[in-house]
Amino acid sequence: KPKSSKADIPREKSALLFEKAKKYFPGGVNSPVRAFKSVYGTPLFIERGDGCFLWDADGNQFIDFCCSWGPLILGHNNPKIKEAVVAALEHGLSFGAPTALENELAELILKNNKYIEKLRFVSSGTEAVMSAIRLARGYTGRDKIIKFEGCYHGHSDSLLVKAGSGLVTFGETSSLGVPKSFAEDTIVIALDDKEALTAAFEQFKGEIAAVIIEGVPANNGLLLQDKAYIQFLREITQANGSILIFDEVITGFRLGFEGAAAYYDIKPDIITYGKIIGGGMPVGAYGSSAEIMMHISPDGGVYQAGTLSGNPVAMAAGIAQLSELNKAGFYKELNKKASEFVASIRRYADAKNYKVKIFNIASIFWIAFTDKENIKAATDIAHESMDKYKILHRELLNRGIYLGPSGYEVGFVSSAHSKIELEKAKRAIFESLDVVFK
Ligand code: PLP
Repeated sequence: KPKSSKADIPREKSALLFEKAKKYFPGGVNSPVRAFKSVYGTPLFIERGDGCFLWDADGNQFIDFCCSWGPLILGHNNPKIKEAVVAALEHGLSFGAPTALENELAELILKNNKYIEKLRFVSSGTEAVMSAIRLARGYTGRDKIIKFEGCYHGHSDSLLVKAGSGLVTFGETSSLGVPKSFAEDTIVIALDDKEALTAAFEQFKGEIAAVIIEGVPANNGLLLQDKAYIQFLREITQANGSILIFDEVITGFRLGFEGAAAYYDIKPDIITYGKIIGGGMPVGAYGSSAEIMMHISPDGGVYQAGTLSGNPVAMAAGIAQLSELNKAGFYKELNKKASEFVASIRRYADAKNYKVKIFNIASIFWIAFTDKENIKAATDIAHESMDKYKILHRELLNRGIYLGPSGYEVGFVSSAHSKIELEKAKRAIFESLDVVFK
């Protein structure tokens, strides 16, 4: 264990809670990356969050750049979201019947999004993508799908094939328990490789139901794609009668209110959402043209349902959050703040000749220990980068900065990060980089 330049923060209470959790949950957690396997120490048990801050069980305070992995674009415990949630709670938690809140959230989304005409609410990103794939298969009458190495789309069987996120972190490329027959219908190719995609369409002519890509791949590093490549996906899917799915679980309402579709100004056939759409409550959604959505039950033959779908408390949180995001200038201000933050870290690293790059789009950033100017495919990420990230992560925790516990994960800037906290965070990052490169 390399020596930290700063004393370790107290972690006794978190460590005790983790010991207890290990008795109850596999690996002591309810989602694998939380187990801190790729960084030093045991997971921090969080007691509360407010604005851009988190407090753990030992009373340590952090400026949070994980933001619950993206949903908290307004920061923790936003007063408007809290108020809306409390008001909804007063009326009951769940009815399993339609509510006006579902209409309200749908209207807010659809009136401000020219890429979809109808949508369906579900309870997670995984569920949104799983349903979108079923819709694409039902609509085209085909079975095969194409996904890209380094894109994560949740943990449904069809998509757990060479997926990124936690799986890459653990050095695995797929999961046990996924039937071979499922994997056979999922074709995995590298990003930014037109030839591979063309070859896949030639080899499986008339069999490809859909091509799915993250709006901007952000689960295995931040793999910024050229617009021309996305345009190519649009053209090749159209030419082959296949559906193009943008998985906007991260990019939706993050790159802008209309997400990656508007960022590229390319209209996919189906879009999936999650994270931000629920303001921190469990919500996902998938949307498309009225013509394609007509195939979903009860109108059509593609079955999809959910006891808690459109949950009123979750809808209320979503309405409150998206209403804030829809205000003029919201994204301009947030993105400017994030890009200035990133630029100043870049300047520091360049001045010191450190082999580190900070990739950035809108309010998403990714710290990679590399000298490559562009990283577009998962295979371009050097694994040594992760050893350095491990040190950086510990140094930052010791300086009150919370980043995702894996070097493959991106960071998020929220509107709750003020200039003062970003200034503090920068200083901590400078010092921590000095330790990494000592
Ligand atoms: N799709 C993308 C692009 C994601 O980033 C994620 C989660 O990180 C998912 C799907 C799955 O969403 P959830 O974790 O809500 O099931």
